Amino acid sequence: MQREEIINLAAGPSTLPQSVLQEAAQGLLNYEGTGIGLTELSHRSPDFTKLTTDLENILRKHLNVPQTHRVLFTQGGGSLQFSAVVMNLLSRHRRLYPDLPEKDRVMDYVVTGNWSSKAIEEAKKLAGPCTVHTVFDGREHSADRKFQAISAAENWKISNNPAFVYYCDNETVDGVQFDGYLSKEGENNERIRFPFHALPRDPSNPTNLVPIVADYSSSFFTRPIPQIEDHAVVFAGAQKNVGPAGLTILLVRQDVLVPQPTNSLYPIPTTLEYATLAKSGSLYNTPPMFSMYVSLLIMRHYESKGGLSAVVAESKIKVEKLYRSLEVGEKKGVFKLRVKDGSRSYMNVTFEVLGEGNEAKFLKEATEKGLRGVKGHRSVGGIRISLYNGVTIEQVDKVVQFVLEFVEKNAS
Ligand code: PMP
Repeated sequence: MQREEIINLAAGPSTLPQSVLQEAAQGLLNYEGTGIGLTELSHRSPDFTKLTTDLENILRKHLNVPQTHRVLFTQGGGSLQFSAVVMNLLSRHRRLYPDLPEKDRVMDYVVTGNWSSKAIEEAKKLAGPCTVHTVFDGREHSADRKFQAISAAENWKISNNPAFVYYCDNETVDGVQFDGYLSKEGENNERIRFPFHALPRDPSNPTNLVPIVADYSSSFFTRPIPQIEDHAVVFAGAQKNVGPAGLTILLVRQDVLVPQPTNSLYPIPTTLEYATLAKSGSLYNTPPMFSMYVSLLIMRHYESKGGLSAVVAESKIKVEKLYRSLEVGEKKGVFKLRVKDGSRSYMNVTFEVLGEGNEAKFLKEATEKGLRGVKGHRSVGGIRISLYNGVTIEQVDKVVQFVLEFVEKNAS
């Protein structure tokens, strides 16, 4: 098979722009005329230091990262951040409220899908005597106990002074996302944005909200981060929209960057402590150099196409086209969209193919047409089509054509 014959709609790692991969292949052999391949350079060389600074600056510029926040690069993926946020944010809380009984230190979790479920399980493992509190669990608001929607903040139970409030912007497995710009105006649909307005102020610094932690693994650099300044930590693995796997990007506010006292009863492993990463300029140990390199090339590629606003505009076109075609199938009884309007993801579109044997038929025919990676996550089944930044509008047009043909053939 040739690359041109395939439309890779996988949920991550996912497709990356071909021109960038070609450029990266060149840099792998000879980085910017140094005669040394990128992965053969020292991570402390001036060339690589410049690359790190350039990557930080381009992310800062396009995401409008405020001066109160550091941009940090590390390894371990979103999964390791499930642990790191607990340790770093509890440490901050202990520093600010040393006399509070540990059981009164609360971590608030908003559970909207598979990945925030995993995050809360990790918090329970690491909490010790501290309390892990579920602010909202999407399963409790759906008839079949599946993640299908996020409800408005009236249903949320937020603690008064939590160590942090955690949410996942886009649930990659379930296809549930905050900020329902997809929902149609005037149809009484709730447009579910993250309810910053419902969060209490931080008693230690009332100009801020209580610390917010967000998992942006599958939506980083797909739109501006709403109220970025109110987030204590934003984290994302690079492998969906930004680059190859291996790189984890962190945006961390200064008040989380205070080193732990050496005699702490609750030590944080050195490489997981945000203060260490910040102090060393993300160079405490060897960073994921190749992934950072490709990510920088990808950022430059998006910059040349008009930056984040161009990415957002393209994304809107892609999701509109795909959801509209699936709605045609839904009206004709061929598909069922999994997620309620208002909470639908614009990165991972999940649906079921109705009728005995029809899902297998859809998958077979999709494969024959060159579509790849559309089988739903093993935990939920069904179909999932991911529309990350690397998927082009032309490719989505082909997907839509396939979907509509399938509907025509299978409508009863
Ligand atoms: N959070 C979300 C929303 C994800 O989609 C993923 C990976 N698919 C993760 C966390 C875990 O990331 P990693 O595999 O990089 O640890």
